[in-house]
Amino acid sequence: MSATENISIAENLKDVERRICEACARSGRRREDVTLIAVSKTKPVSMIQEAIAEGVVDFGENKPQELRDKYDVLPKDLRWHMIGNLQRNKVKYVVGRAVMIHSVGSLKLAEAIEKEAAGKDILMPCLVEVNMAGEESKGGIAPQDAEEFVRRIAEFPHLRMKGFMTIAPYVEDAELNRVHFRGLRNLAVDIGSKNIDNIMVNELSMGMTGDFEVAIEEGATLVRVGTGIFGERNYNL
Ligand SMILES: *Cc1c(COP(=O)(O)O)cnc(C)c1O
Repeated sequence: MSATENISIAENLKDVERRICEACARSGRRREDVTLIAVSKTKPVSMIQEAIAEGVVDFGENKPQELRDKYDVLPKDLRWHMIGNLQRNKVKYVVGRAVMIHSVGSLKLAEAIEKEAAGKDILMPCLVEVNMAGEESKGGIAPQDAEEFVRRIAEFPHLRMKGFMTIAPYVEDAELNRVHFRGLRNLAVDIGSKNIDNIMVNELSMGMTGDFEVAIEEGATLVRVGTGIFGERNYNL
């Protein structure tokens, strides 16, 4: 069976929406304080159009050229989020197209974003990626290094830090990731209390298909859901 068979994006979105609402209700949060980002990586433009028809405006991509190509052919009122590992020489595809880069995890990348944004005379909203679980395979700043890192990027005038992002480990039981989401929230509160100029910590990008409800309960403002909306990805196409 192919990965796209029997997928109803409209039905999936209804289900995800219901679960977001329930997680908000459980944790005393308002639905409008959580943005659903539909992660459309590897999926064709036709499926994105189906999601647009259901009212989705926020989309996430993890490859710079794929983000560029989709941005260029789709309506310009969509909001594109760069959520994946970003190489410095590909920053040019993203700055000026994405509304936010979620994956700022090195000073060299931050410098490249600053340079590109300055050249295009725009301010680039960014999130600092934190590796909460200390997984070697993943990028991001170690939690104990986050404050120093934030103080460094605060000095870049065209980079606007809005908060933090984390990619939690893949687990069968989403409860196991609660500690990481809570940890990121605490880190944001802690760094927010230092009142660093040019730094905001309001946004927390955390939670994916397997664990977005727990992430919302722990304060996520941006959840990144791919499989739960578009179905399994097939990387061998
Ligand atoms: C692919 C991806 C997602 C979505 O993952 P699903 O499990 O399909 O919801 C979220 N965040 C990042 C950074 C991703 O690369």
